[in-house]
Amino acid sequence: MTLSHRGILFLDELPEFDRGVLEVLREPLESGQITISRAARQSDFPARFQLVAAMNPCPCGYLGDVSGKCRCSPDQVGRYRGRISGPLLDRIDLQLFVPRVEREALIAAVDPGAESSEHVRSRVTAASRRQAERAGKPNAQLTPREIERDCPVDAQTRGLLEAAMTRMGLSARAYHRVLKVARTIADLAGAQALAAGHVGEALRLRELDRGQI
Ligand SMILES: [Zn+2]
Repeated sequence: MTLSHRGILFLDELPEFDRGVLEVLREPLESGQITISRAARQSDFPARFQLVAAMNPCPCGYLGDVSGKCRCSPDQVGRYRGRISGPLLDRIDLQLFVPRVEREALIAAVDPGAESSEHVRSRVTAASRRQAERAGKPNAQLTPREIERDCPVDAQTRGLLEAAMTRMGLSARAYHRVLKVARTIADLAGAQALAAGHVGEALRLRELDRGQI
């Protein structure tokens, strides 16, 4: 974790990691540092990393695939996913199902209508600058008090958010995380105010929580 400070920590096949190892990620994901205690000594190391993880949708990997090859029972799928604890999943802001790419699509030419990497980079840079100018730090590092200040929502949007939180069984921590992602979506769109559409999109990006995968 400390080696990936200010970079990306990528964990492939996330459920294959020992549960104890995965739980150790929780505190650094909040605080940006890791404390290691050995006998009478204790040391803090920086660990502000971006966690990126990949996993199969089920033990065989074919759940949701067009081939229909998956024969896993709901119990097997539940046990497999249960290896990722609720508190850890809570801290993963974007959870997306990525379908298998068909061979034809893979060898076909790149879609000429797709947004170029240069263009995406300019949007990301602009959004990052907006965050630095507003709060002096990225949205991900906003405290609850700063979220109140920088991510105000109207009564209707708050109602939508609260209803979704109840339906998805999300914690107070996830509530704040959804607001920070929504603020980033608004920043990427160049929008000053946080609208219901930004919050709705942030909620849609939590597919595992919504049971969409
Ligand atoms: Zn399966």
